[in-house]
Amino acid sequence: MDVKKNIKEFEKILAGTGCRLVAVSKTKPNDLILKAYETGFKDFGENRIQDLVAKYEILPKDINWHMIGHLQSNKVKYIVSFVHLIHAVDSFKLLKEINKQGAKVSRVIPCLLQIHIADETTKFGLDEKELFALIESPEFKELQNVQIKGLMGMATNTDNKNQIRAEFKYLRTLFEKVKNEYQQPGIKMEELSMGMSGDYDIAVEEGSTLIRVGSAIFGARNY
Ligand SMILES: *Cc1c(COP(=O)(O)O)cnc(C)c1O
Repeated sequence: MDVKKNIKEFEKILAGTGCRLVAVSKTKPNDLILKAYETGFKDFGENRIQDLVAKYEILPKDINWHMIGHLQSNKVKYIVSFVHLIHAVDSFKLLKEINKQGAKVSRVIPCLLQIHIADETTKFGLDEKELFALIESPEFKELQNVQIKGLMGMATNTDNKNQIRAEFKYLRTLFEKVKNEYQQPGIKMEELSMGMSGDYDIAVEEGSTLIRVGSAIFGARNY
């Protein structure tokens, strides 16, 4: 894979769309990340805390690190001092822990709430009811060290483009609803994180502001 060429290609695709790229570098070595970085690109996503911390420590400090994977509460403390955006907050318990750890390092941590939009049971996320219960709860309004910046979702892994589009449309609808109807201190809806290597084109058409692309940039992963 020519990482530099791929990054430039994506920047061309996204120019003028209002959508930006998060290059998902999970399982990929630092030299490949540096190739992308050398083009001036700075937003990388990881899904495991250990890898995120290890890469943060070694790589340039002006990289924006996105935590895109499922996050366990007991590991939040390792990333709060530097993480740029946490994409996959899927419980109030986790949000509370991020708030607590954010307070310890005097940061307001930008977070996205992950919504379950796929028809697979294996993907994490809140459903619509849980989303509104969370943001309406009095306890949420007291959290001073987290800010909800938007929503994140993963579409079903399917060839059915209509289904993928419908799932992204649904996520966009929820995003607009929160944005329009919940103007309160802990919420500032700016980001809609949806779209990966296989479905980013549909996601961009449906209003994504952040696509999370791994294999189309860095090549297939071998776990
Ligand atoms: C791995 C991963 C991606 C990127 O997947 P690709 O298909 O390689 O683009 C995006 N989002 C999340 C949450 C991931 O875990």
